[in-house]
Amino acid sequence: MNYYNEHTSIWLNGNIVKAADAKIDLYSQTMHYGYGVFEGIRSYKTVTGETRIFKPEEHYTRLQKSAEALNIPYAFSNQELIEATYRVLDLNGQQDAYIRPLVYAPANMSFVKNTETNLVIMTWEMAPFLGDKLLRVVSSSFQRPNPKGFYIHAKAAGHYVNSILASQEAKAKGYDEALLSDMDGYIAEGPGANVFFEKNGVLFTPSTGNILPGITRATVMEICADLQIQVVEKKCTREDIYDADAAFFCGTAAEVIGWDSLDDNGFRKQWNNSISRTVQLAYKNRVIEKSEALTSI
Ligand code: PMP
Repeated sequence: MNYYNEHTSIWLNGNIVKAADAKIDLYSQTMHYGYGVFEGIRSYKTVTGETRIFKPEEHYTRLQKSAEALNIPYAFSNQELIEATYRVLDLNGQQDAYIRPLVYAPANMSFVKNTETNLVIMTWEMAPFLGDKLLRVVSSSFQRPNPKGFYIHAKAAGHYVNSILASQEAKAKGYDEALLSDMDGYIAEGPGANVFFEKNGVLFTPSTGNILPGITRATVMEICADLQIQVVEKKCTREDIYDADAAFFCGTAAEVIGWDSLDDNGFRKQWNNSISRTVQLAYKNRVIEKSEALTSI
């Protein structure tokens, strides 16, 4: 996969540099121990033709909170980073883009705290992370990290070893994606997305505590409030989903993507007749700042 070419610009510690010329220290604590934090953000070409980053304040605030949770020094303002992101998008001629800020550590092979920090912002064009077809999802043999062992609300690089293992296991079994439970066996989330399911006109989603509380999850809740769709946050079981009318994953990279089945159990409603589909369409409208309802995607 090519994320950049010789013309691609990135923002690195306050400077615009070419991605091809940028170097990282191989002795970085992040490289060896996964001790870093990052964000996944998207920008869209809106209906008026402008480039608009979706919820940039929320994403950069979460980046700061993730860094603080891990004792990583962080001296950047949201405004500075948002301006930097627009600048990189502009230099790269990108409107519909995926944006990856990463806070990484200096050379440090010990476990002690750093006084220095690094922040890089990279952008590239990326189709929906899980594709645009209904997903065959399988229950994972991996659980999400124990919140007593990790700050699970932080988007820490090292957590993603768990995501990679779960996703690769699902694909090796012939499925599209994994669904992970928490340490008590309740449904938690996907490797890189939150989960919702629909039953009798109500949407359900796992409560916070064992999940990354997604910005898209919050957007889905805002959409539901606007559309007067009830959302219930609770401890959810796999059986709840087997008995659901529809289900979907949501995340910045994946957007809103419906499921075909969980563990080969299909759903009671056709995706196109579900309220989940209405939420999917509303999300697509919202990110491009389109107010009227879309009839197809
Ligand atoms: N859970 C995990 C584990 C994730 O990696 C992501 C993607 N950041 C999400 C949920 C969804 O979060 P968001 O909607 O903020 O992208």
